[in-house]
Amino acid sequence: MIDHLVIGGGISGLLTAYYLNQAGKRVCLLERGLVGRESSWAGGGIISPLYPWRYPQAVTQLVQWSQQEFPQLTEVLDAATRLDSELLQSGMLILDEPDEKAALQWGADTHSAISVIGAAQVASLEPALQEHPEHTLWMPDIYQVRNPRLVKALREYLLKNGVLIQENTEVTAILREHGQVTGVKTEQTEFKSAQVAVTCGAWSPGLWPSAEKPLPVKPIRGQMLMINSRPGLIKRIVLRDNHYVIPRNDGRILVGSTMEDVGFDKTTTQYAHDLLLKFAYDLMPILQDFKVERQWAGLRPGTPDNIPRIMQHTDIKGLFINAGHFRNGVVTAPASAKLLVNLMLNEQPILDPKPYS
Ligand SMILES: Cc1cc2nc3c(=O)[nH]c(=O)nc-3n(C[C@H](O)[C@H](O)[C@H](O)COP(=O)(O)OP(=O)(O)OC[C@H]3O[C@@H](n4cnc5c(N)ncnc54)[C@H](O)[C@@H]3O)c2cc1C
Repeated sequence: MIDHLVIGGGISGLLTAYYLNQAGKRVCLLERGLVGRESSWAGGGIISPLYPWRYPQAVTQLVQWSQQEFPQLTEVLDAATRLDSELLQSGMLILDEPDEKAALQWGADTHSAISVIGAAQVASLEPALQEHPEHTLWMPDIYQVRNPRLVKALREYLLKNGVLIQENTEVTAILREHGQVTGVKTEQTEFKSAQVAVTCGAWSPGLWPSAEKPLPVKPIRGQMLMINSRPGLIKRIVLRDNHYVIPRNDGRILVGSTMEDVGFDKTTTQYAHDLLLKFAYDLMPILQDFKVERQWAGLRPGTPDNIPRIMQHTDIKGLFINAGHFRNGVVTAPASAKLLVNLMLNEQPILDPKPYS
């Protein structure tokens, strides 16, 4: 007998299953394709929002709880699975913030390490950058994670710990009786449970019964490039004009990303390829010596206010949602999942759930 059904195996669903499993619950996760192959695979894995001071408090709270959690979470997962999620404290340089004051004030308010550094220091940190601006923001405590490996480690960990994961299983409807969820329907069969969590990222509105207000989540495409450079060419995440480079340990550099409102279209475009490459070459001309290895696109679960929905359905008891994390779905994933599990298990919540309902 299953205690909880989790629908959707991105990072939101995997971590929801993880915390339920940690609480000793019997969990079944249903995934339409293969686990962790949508937005959670496509993302950059920066463990921070870009320009974090531009986000509401509700996002900052999820971010801060998660940032504390990531080191121990990846340690547990990596030790149990012998995979390396590559959690790295690479720090983040921000080259173009016009409102330095707001950034520093946010740093003071949230006790986050952030300072303004000068050209000489930027040059000593990252000599390969074309420009070393006089006023650069430096956040030394920012981590990155290799998100495709993280979701792989989560999958392995959950399987080892008794979570039933059923891939290639698309949920087509939520089943309910007299205002109580009773399970879900798939093309082949039905799964019964008195608690169901919808964690389908950008696809969540399709499953969420909404009498009046539809769930305000929609796909926003993001495209990325990967350049195969050499290890150590650059060590920090560098952000300028909403675009960034993320250096991995093995020398691969991710260049991101676009924000495109094009529905559920995951194709890549020449336009995005050229835009991202121009950004990368302007930032670091030496990258022209290396090959572009891949281009891909993912669909972020966008919300108008950047705030995910983490709540129980107002009319259907036992039906929960954890979706709409937009650009910050990796960094906010642990706190969002933990908060949802608090609500599902009627526990004292780690954060006030109101802003997410
Ligand atoms: C280019 C790009 C860069 C990004 N960079 C970052 C970053 O650096 N840091 C950060 O924090 N965030 C980043 N993000 C955002 C982050 O990746 C997402 O917010 C996050 O992955 C969303 O996770 P999710 O589990 O909610 O959704 P998803 O990963 O999309 O997972 C949803 C899952 O539900 C499944 N599903 C859908 N419908 C059904 C159904 N009916 N039945 C069963 N299963 C179903 C899907 O197949 C999918 O596997 C980035 C995103 C993109 C695209």
